[in-house]
Amino acid sequence: MWPRALKVGQIQVHSLSDGKFRLDGGAMFGVVPKPLWEKLLEPDELNRIPLRTNPLLIQIENKNILIETGMFEGDEKFRRIHALERDTTVFEGLKTVGLEPSDIHLVIHTHLHYDHAGRNTTAGKPTFQHATHLVQRAELEEAQNTHERNRASYLPELWEPLIASGQLETLEGHTEILEGLSVHPAPGHNLGQQIVRLKSEGEVLIYTADLMPTLSHAPYAYLLGYDLYPVTCLEQRKHYFPQWAAENAILATPHDPEHAFGRFVENARGGFLTVPLE
Ligand SMILES: [Zn+2]
Repeated sequence: MWPRALKVGQIQVHSLSDGKFRLDGGAMFGVVPKPLWEKLLEPDELNRIPLRTNPLLIQIENKNILIETGMFEGDEKFRRIHALERDTTVFEGLKTVGLEPSDIHLVIHTHLHYDHAGRNTTAGKPTFQHATHLVQRAELEEAQNTHERNRASYLPELWEPLIASGQLETLEGHTEILEGLSVHPAPGHNLGQQIVRLKSEGEVLIYTADLMPTLSHAPYAYLLGYDLYPVTCLEQRKHYFPQWAAENAILATPHDPEHAFGRFVENARGGFLTVPLE
């Protein structure tokens, strides 16, 4: 199932996976009752649902661009709590495409949580030696000024070495990175999250970030218990989802456990569900 190749117009993309993990199903579905979400993603005996970390490789204008870097390795306790299972890794995925970490030119971060930026560093050094890492300024500020509610998600060891090596650059709001590749703020999960948009020859792919962490999270109210500003999140979803549906955009989510890509279909109540592309 991973890596999975896809063409968006003229541009080659690959969904990579950095392996499976699990988080509490209640925390992943907020106020949605368990009888609804357990039919979508079946919990284990500890109430944890199956997830993945799914970075995306985009090859455009002879540049190798990675959206997110993967899941933090952590210690034995971390791996046990998260049921981390590396059935594949971002490095194996890159190898399949013929690339090494040193071949990555650019890393785009939706945000800096450890399940998204977890492979930024290896043994305290930048993993992608030649890459510039891009993140919204608001996200870096949030990561550097944590409080009790978000502190567990941010590990300074994942970005401080990048600041020291001059590899971390901050963005201010909507930014065109290359022709056809842009980032757009999508606050709510936290303040500085951004989604990534790729367009080529009329085809659109969206990397949804945690605005829609899996294809099962398409209904507007299926917000995360982890979202710091759930009403903002809801507003952002109502802003973006109809646009993405109107463009028939390919949706790449960061955590879907089974499907690399999907698309929206409208449900009977004016909201959305998804269908996988496979
Ligand atoms: Zn996440």
